[in-house]
Amino acid sequence: MTNPLLAHWDTPFELPPFDQITDDAYLPAVEAALAESRANIAAIADNPAAPDFANTIEALERADDTLGRVLGVFYNVAGADSNPAREKLQRDFAPMLSAYGSEVSENKALFQRVETIWQQRDDLDLTDEQQRVLMLTRRGFVRSGAQLEGDAAKKLRAVKSRLSVLGTEFTQNLLADEREWFMLLGDDDLDGLPDFVIATARAAGEEKDAGGPVVTLSRSLIVPFLQFSERRDLRQKAYEAWGARGAKGGKTDNRAIAAETLKLREERANLLGYDTFADFKLETEMAGTPQAVRDLLMDVWQPAKAAAEHDAKKLQQMLHADGFDGPLEPWDWRFYSEKRRKELHDLDEAELKPYLQLDRMIEAAFACANRLFGLEFAAIEGPSYHPDVRQWEVTRDGEHIAVFIGDYFARGSKRSGAWCSAMRSQQRLAGDIRPHVVNVCNFAKPQNGKPALLSYDDARTLFHEFGHALHQMLSDVTYESISGTSVARDFVELPSQLYEHWLEVPEVLSEFATHADTGKPMPEDLLKRMLGAATYDMGFQTVEYVASALVDLGFHDGPAPADPMQKQAEILAELGMPHAIRMRHATPHFAHVFAGDGYSSGYYSYMWSEVMDADAFAAFEEVGDPFDPETAKKLEQTVLSSGGSVDAADLYTAFRGRLPGVEALLKGRGLDTAA
Ligand SMILES: [Zn+2]
Repeated sequence: MTNPLLAHWDTPFELPPFDQITDDAYLPAVEAALAESRANIAAIADNPAAPDFANTIEALERADDTLGRVLGVFYNVAGADSNPAREKLQRDFAPMLSAYGSEVSENKALFQRVETIWQQRDDLDLTDEQQRVLMLTRRGFVRSGAQLEGDAAKKLRAVKSRLSVLGTEFTQNLLADEREWFMLLGDDDLDGLPDFVIATARAAGEEKDAGGPVVTLSRSLIVPFLQFSERRDLRQKAYEAWGARGAKGGKTDNRAIAAETLKLREERANLLGYDTFADFKLETEMAGTPQAVRDLLMDVWQPAKAAAEHDAKKLQQMLHADGFDGPLEPWDWRFYSEKRRKELHDLDEAELKPYLQLDRMIEAAFACANRLFGLEFAAIEGPSYHPDVRQWEVTRDGEHIAVFIGDYFARGSKRSGAWCSAMRSQQRLAGDIRPHVVNVCNFAKPQNGKPALLSYDDARTLFHEFGHALHQMLSDVTYESISGTSVARDFVELPSQLYEHWLEVPEVLSEFATHADTGKPMPEDLLKRMLGAATYDMGFQTVEYVASALVDLGFHDGPAPADPMQKQAEILAELGMPHAIRMRHATPHFAHVFAGDGYSSGYYSYMWSEVMDADAFAAFEEVGDPFDPETAKKLEQTVLSSGGSVDAADLYTAFRGRLPGVEALLKGRGLDTAA
């Protein structure tokens, strides 16, 4: 029998035939697909014909067609509906795929063909998109060391392999420290804690067999504990334990690992011809240079610090009124800030919830996409991997655009968080391929057939992931490698974060935020309080984030520091870090930076994207219409349809006429008015 993953899919919209795909089909399909990929790569590298764009670059684009199709299905179900067999497959596939990746990037004959075409590029009459794909393909080879020979190549391989070991150790140490510590709460230790925190603490206590409720270092428990516990001594104890993760001495201490990591990253950058690791890392990003990142962060830092200092004074007065002398400490901030939030924006989640129905919020996301881009959504019944999954055909003027798949409810088999992926990406090289785009969320599933209700955060998540989906669905390029969300890391959150702004448009909420029982729209006063609460305490949040981003950058844009902790202290002293705020992630537990390479000298990118989304939405505000057709059309023609076919800064400039400024972000975070 043919493996259903490898057969032609004669299903509605060519969706994967999930009813026929059993778990034991994946491994043989991946093995067969990898063999096919290897044969394709060998055929390209050994082709006796002179290298040209079609026989090398386009052939490379298609070399993994089958592999991509199989893995598109697998990683979708492995993330959204896992089981022990799929977990094992995930572990098995990782080394198989990384070995294949290294073979390709270290294939000298292949790189030589790419290099030859690159050298001839001006005489080849390539389209702009082809030039871009050629540049990106070559750059990928060069950045993984294809130009290095002999000892340098050997050295680079050793550095990369040691870095991956260090990244794993860093993560495991951090997990060990997080698992080990807990604080047992006696009956007198529960003062101020709301029921949901006590319930979480009890569940954690049972899991640890601790004989009562406990505080652990999990963010979802320690943060509410710090917000609500009236016991200043316990808050201090918990806060200090939280801050000591990865720096407790002994076997799990991450400080030496951080130092060695920074040293090796510098070596890696130097071997590849860059002065610093930040130069290497930022080359592929929209920001481009360390200086551009620093400028942006410093533009935000000063107003954020001013706002935080203003807030710190208010909170310190509250501390003193409670009979404590001395300065406001880091373990006091969340507690007094929570009290102040109640005074300023009292928001009862229970009052809010009936207004945010999942189905109405999905309708709202669709309605905005209809008004902005003319998209229409019709429910379909295609094959799916789980009964909770919903599917729609997306059309425009009767023309098929995409299949949109929404998998909204939490379940044990789904990993946490929310994400957007494409089981199939848009492209034209292999025929006119339209995308299959999936949004996965973890919203609570209602009981007894009641309508599913969301928190405001959930609703934002829904819009956020739908923004990523639009980036995939409106993609209009020839080559898959630059399709949809295949863009720079500091650009990829623009469409998603931008889309969140439409949820805040009052006419959208008043139409779609209707009460589950009465059908009445949300009262204006509640709407105002909800939107006000969403930007509360931004001085604190911005300071703890920007400080971390500046330390990350400072670690990578100069010589590697021998003592990262000392370097961190110097950077914070120079910034004048407010006494009662610490970095969101200090070095010994800064997993974004040290658990792997993903966000090293890239932690800034959340803020970079937010600057852009605020500035981009301001384009609609400036013309006085959140659905202005001209602006929407421009947004689609530049940012949303182009994928990575054009440099991100050029795309943004084409949309906005200039690069983004921080003003709209400061306004959106309420930091422009700080006293
Ligand atoms: Zn996102």
